[in-house]
Amino acid sequence: MNKIVIISAPSGSGKSTLISRLMEDKELRLEFSISATTRPPRGQEVDGKDYYFLTPETFRDFISANMFVEYEQVYQDRYYGTLYRELNRISDNGNNIIFDVDVKGGINLKGKFGSNALSIFIQPPSVEELRRRLEKRGTDSEEEIAKRVAKAEEEMSHASQFDCIVVNDDLDIATAELRGIVGGFLK
Ligand code: ADP
Ligand code: 5GP
Repeated sequence: MNKIVIISAPSGSGKSTLISRLMEDKELRLEFSISATTRPPRGQEVDGKDYYFLTPETFRDFISANMFVEYEQVYQDRYYGTLYRELNRISDNGNNIIFDVDVKGGINLKGKFGSNALSIFIQPPSVEELRRRLEKRGTDSEEEIAKRVAKAEEEMSHASQFDCIVVNDDLDIATAELRGIVGGFLK
């Protein structure tokens, strides 16, 4: 079976940035698991590329039909989840799977896939720096940023439940560290 890399972190830690950099290394044969979500598209996001954007009704129907490997209500009224058919799609391509999921989802997936999966927690240097990054990114409202920062504190307390922790202070250093860890696991 293809291998699984799970990346989790509080929002704003830089996990999307790190995942993009990691995926530039084609030798790793990593394909991104596109999650389904009920949140609206942000910035330049494209349906079927960044997320499968679903209505709350469709998301609920998919839950009832047991179509999710895992799903979470990450924020109020905001559901995110991984569809079985997404994993099948990537497996059929013969690629390894990389997940970008919240902390609960990461722990959940690691529990399901065991030693076939490597779970990595991306840690920001501090919650204050995380807030600065979210503000600088400029994609979320002030209210949305406040929700994400409030959640970050709790999420950081679960870091030790992951196979490894990468601190994203200097981006180049964190990228190199992540490449080393993932390359070693997939070898
Ligand atoms: P996440 O996917 O965890 O929500 P992003 O990858 O979108 O986070 O990063 C949040 C913001 O912080 C982006 O604007 C990104 O360019 C910036 N960023 C990421 N890593 C660093 C870093 N090491 N130092 C400074 N800014 C960073
Ligand atoms: P964002 O709205 O910033 O794209 O994502 C918010 C949070 O939801 C992030 O922590 C992201 O990792 C998480 N997330 C995205 N997809 C999934 C998923 O399929 N399952 C879970 N549990 N979390 C997800």
